[in-house]
Amino acid sequence: MKAIRRFTVRAVLPDSLSALERLAGNLRWSWHEPTRQLFSHISPELWDETGHDPVSLLGEVSPARLEELAGDEGFVDWTNRLLTDLGDYLEQPRWYQTLGDEAPASIAYFSPEFGIAAALPQYSGGLGILAGDHLKSASDLGLPLVGVGLFYRSGYFAQAISADGWQIESYPVLDPDGLPLSVLRNPDGSAVQVTLALPDDRQLHARVWQARVGRIRLLLLDADIPENEESLRSVTDRLYGGGGEHRLLQELLLGVGGARAVKLYTELHGLPDTEVFHTNEGHAGFLGLERISDLIGDGLSFDEALQVVRAGTVFTTHTPVPAGIDRFERPLVERYFSTELLPGVAVDDVLALGAENYPGGSPDAFNMAVMGLRLGQHANGVSRLHGEVSRQMFSGLWPGFDAADVPIDSVTNGVHAPTWTDPHLIALAQEKLGTADTSNADWASDAVTDGELWAVRGVMRQQLVDDARRRVREAWIAQNPGGIAPAWVDDLLDPTVLTIGFARRVPTYKRLTLMLHDPERLRSILTNEQRPVQIVVAGKSHPADEEGKRLIQKLVQFASEPEIRRRMVFLPDYDIAMARVLYPGTDVWLNNPLRPLEACGTSGMKAALNGALNLSILDGWWNEFYDGENGWAIPTADSAGDAAERDKLEADALYELIENQIAPRFYEREHDDVPARWMQSIRHTLSTLSPQLNSDRMVREYVERLYVPAAGYERRLSADHYGSARELAAWKSRVTAAWPRVTVAHVESGGVDSVPQVGDHLRLRAHIALGGLTPADVAVEVVYGRSTVGDQLKDVATRELEPTQTDFGDASTVEYMGTVELDRAGAFGYTVRVVPKNALLISPAEMGLIAVAG
Ligand SMILES: *Cc1c(COP(=O)(O)O)cnc(C)c1O
Repeated sequence: MKAIRRFTVRAVLPDSLSALERLAGNLRWSWHEPTRQLFSHISPELWDETGHDPVSLLGEVSPARLEELAGDEGFVDWTNRLLTDLGDYLEQPRWYQTLGDEAPASIAYFSPEFGIAAALPQYSGGLGILAGDHLKSASDLGLPLVGVGLFYRSGYFAQAISADGWQIESYPVLDPDGLPLSVLRNPDGSAVQVTLALPDDRQLHARVWQARVGRIRLLLLDADIPENEESLRSVTDRLYGGGGEHRLLQELLLGVGGARAVKLYTELHGLPDTEVFHTNEGHAGFLGLERISDLIGDGLSFDEALQVVRAGTVFTTHTPVPAGIDRFERPLVERYFSTELLPGVAVDDVLALGAENYPGGSPDAFNMAVMGLRLGQHANGVSRLHGEVSRQMFSGLWPGFDAADVPIDSVTNGVHAPTWTDPHLIALAQEKLGTADTSNADWASDAVTDGELWAVRGVMRQQLVDDARRRVREAWIAQNPGGIAPAWVDDLLDPTVLTIGFARRVPTYKRLTLMLHDPERLRSILTNEQRPVQIVVAGKSHPADEEGKRLIQKLVQFASEPEIRRRMVFLPDYDIAMARVLYPGTDVWLNNPLRPLEACGTSGMKAALNGALNLSILDGWWNEFYDGENGWAIPTADSAGDAAERDKLEADALYELIENQIAPRFYEREHDDVPARWMQSIRHTLSTLSPQLNSDRMVREYVERLYVPAAGYERRLSADHYGSARELAAWKSRVTAAWPRVTVAHVESGGVDSVPQVGDHLRLRAHIALGGLTPADVAVEVVYGRSTVGDQLKDVATRELEPTQTDFGDASTVEYMGTVELDRAGAFGYTVRVVPKNALLISPAEMGLIAVAG
């Protein structure tokens, strides 16, 4: 029988155990090992069965066991100690509290997905896990940050694999009452509701769930409530489920509804107004429009409000893959904004923000990333290389500027060490190095011997092997109900064999099946007698991506050959719970995307925190962190004739590395069976990479490089009843109107001989037509550097030229002068450009206006 309705009845805990409920209600348990041990102690079996979910555990544990624990003084003390510890964690000042007043008083962080714990499946992959790690580090560092997302009734999807290797999706419905969530309520006890006006006089309502993630509150909007008409209750059914209108509704709820929810939340709790809004990828971009509407209500014009909103908005772009960017059909957006949704905001102004009015753009598209960049003065990619690629990719929005001038910075992602470091490694650090902080422990010290570290690596590998066997057994039984799993399942993988891990979502660019390029060669690597290799693979394909599913099938079929299956296994339903065992259990983490399409990649970071070595294409984070000792770089065959040749060259290089470098080093054993050379790499990885890969480093960078400046700009514009915002908007409009008449009329140079030498000073004199602007409105700059093919400048520097007169009268041009020192030999080139200048612009390119000589 199937139930038509399901709900969760929460356990009533004995009074002496009330602390358990408080501990379960704060997701800090998901990364706080001592709290996890406490829950596990209640019932180790249930702890495993519930997938390490304290709320479910408390719902299922027998009243008799609870009574027993309630009478166990040691246990009661233990829970109370942990609750005190949680209280301290929530109250005591942390890093952020050492910052001055220039740090924002409140930050809102928007993301379409949040991956915090397996027990709260509201994520599909890297973007969500990153958001979860961002919240966790924000908590550890004491940021006044609120997370905002949607509550999806079925999360992403659960993956099973059919007997012939095909991905099967299912959508188990979550019951929020069985999750660590509570409803946001008004003082009178009623549920807070957010309402959005829709076309045809319809309305979309949502309630707001809140999760506690340490010190951070996460608000999740949920449309599945009786107040909504039937069709609208499914707006938040699934993550990335529908296309077109369904997706637009989700993003309106996330952006507009989310901004309203934050406002209600801060008012209810008497918290300071949000100063900085951070959007993790473009999906939440409509939040900027809601804020503009709010400011218009305060008497600002659209353009004035836009200045304020831009100043306080940080936009992080996450993908260089065009298919990864959200776009809507323009008429659809037009219909949704020709309503009462955003009072005071004209639909044409909305459409202009998402218009692809640059070469190669589509006149019919509304682009969320483009809107993100127009609504956010502060933008960044997620690794250095991705920053570069993004500046190139979006350079059409800043015509006339070199890609290097495009105002998109980068902050390299990080991962939350306490979540992603195996407890065995933490225990080793605690015991031998005197700290549980593995990412700042002295792993080079001989206080830990190679043998001890190797033994822990072995325990983690064994743990993965056990977990893989369990998963395969359970999957087999699900496929063959009532059957008994075959004997080979107990023989899968080998806890002593070199283990390569490979798990990811399955978009084409990640090349799930690159390793299968030459199946015979892979077969010989896996089944090598002296130096066997085993591979553990996992990953979900988007339900609509048939090609991705074919790739999974190809792998599953290869791995199920009797000769191979001991050495290669595909584990269904990749999620956080699997990941936490998989990364520590692998010796080598493989990543072979098509460079440069992996924006950052974080799975390899999580593996590295556990002492795994990376084997990866030089893309994303690996491009900036590979140092020759912490793993291996698969050379990129950029210059290959076509994609097939490139795959072949890169796959060959991959096999080569495994056969000739990785396997020999792993199996090079001394008398004590410890691979000494390999241990050096592990220690090097742990001591040099871990501190860098930690999301604490990432969140600090966001604070220092983006949040603090954003708050500064926003405050300046908002002061004196938005006086500066009004001035800035008026100034921009005046400069934009005059710009077509701004030209570099004439440039002459002197000061160097016919044979210029290093150390000479090049003197420049330029005559600039200002078209009605004044010298205070513009910067006139010499741009110089190495001159390359086609007179393109490389390694460019700029220097401002100064006007020579103070009284300009109505001369048609103004003279500017300056000098440049020739500081190196070789081909030299320069040009002169004029750009707008204002202390409230963060980059000369910000307005996309430029006039260049010639
Ligand atoms: C870390 C993680 C990802 C993202 O890994 P990438 O290397 O960025 O592809 C996806 N899924 C899970 C479960 C993860 O833990």
